[in-house]
Amino acid sequence: MEAAKKTQSAKELRQAALDNLHQRIAEANSQPPLQHDPDCVLEVQDLYKYFPIKTGLFSKLAGYVRAVDGISFKIKKGTTMGLVGESGCGKTTVGKTVLRLTGKTAGQVLFNGIPIHDISRDEMRKLRPKIQMIFQDPYSSLSPRMPVSEIIGEAVREHGLVPENEMDDYLDRIMKACGLQPYHKDRYPHEFSGGQRQRICIARSIALNPDFIVCDEPVSALDVSIQAQIINLLQDLQKQFGMAYLFISHDLSVVEHISDTVGVMYLGDMVEYADKETVFSKPLHPYTEALFSAIPIPDPDAKMKRIILQGSIPSPANPPAGCKFHTRCAKCMEVCKHEAPCMKEVEPGHMVRCHLYD
Ligand code: SF4
Repeated sequence: MEAAKKTQSAKELRQAALDNLHQRIAEANSQPPLQHDPDCVLEVQDLYKYFPIKTGLFSKLAGYVRAVDGISFKIKKGTTMGLVGESGCGKTTVGKTVLRLTGKTAGQVLFNGIPIHDISRDEMRKLRPKIQMIFQDPYSSLSPRMPVSEIIGEAVREHGLVPENEMDDYLDRIMKACGLQPYHKDRYPHEFSGGQRQRICIARSIALNPDFIVCDEPVSALDVSIQAQIINLLQDLQKQFGMAYLFISHDLSVVEHISDTVGVMYLGDMVEYADKETVFSKPLHPYTEALFSAIPIPDPDAKMKRIILQGSIPSPANPPAGCKFHTRCAKCMEVCKHEAPCMKEVEPGHMVRCHLYD
């Protein structure tokens, strides 16, 4: 009898949690359309990406993996936003969702004012050259059976962006801009080093003349000496072609070097967001403080107060109640355990999700 009561109350709690999540999704989906700012290439409002967990013979919905849990940000034309956080915090899912490589659960994504999740597949196909992605692993993101000229030119031809009689010159120009030589055109990916392969991946994206590129850990698979060359290349190309980047990385030094604005993610939430100088000189969220305390300082006399985070990142399928960071936060207060903080503008342009700033 007692056991049956316990099972019943566990079921009720699970159902209440599901109802709560469904209500949040419904609220995010019923927001009025986002007003487009012409200075922005990408505007994201209350973006949710939940992956359903189904169990049993009838695939009953048991919960969600809350990969992205209602985040908002904007990226201005020709600028770079760095997105940082531990592995599993949802950075890559944000990148894929804003490109519509995966569907959203709720929220709004405007690319140059176009709600990309609400347009038809055909309209999306026409838009695709303008929004590109550079992947983490240049070894697996290139077809080993295609020569470089085909890899870079395939999508350009498919979208009819350049007349065929000008194609050769166009590819030469793009390859040169990316630090490759025209004689590389007939070679295959296995004939190149890791850095050169990443240049080929970059050239493939740039050839489509995009307005916006998601760079998902583009240098983490490369040697340190090559990383700097690729980062400098991305910056040079941005100056030359004017595209914006969403730069996803867990390497804070790289993010500091390349970004104009920085967003910090923890367990699907954006916990801090501001321009680079503000976030790096005055981090306010305890998680950001801990992350940034691990950045090496090139001064042997400088005293660093390293903040060690206890434990590992909880499961996004079952995040802690209240503030999701409270199980690891050295500044946790009673309110943090049962009340989730909201994102607040602590000073102009500096957004923080923490009860310390209520
Ligand atoms: S809300 Fe509380 S637990 Fe969360 S980061 Fe702020 S102080 Fe820490």
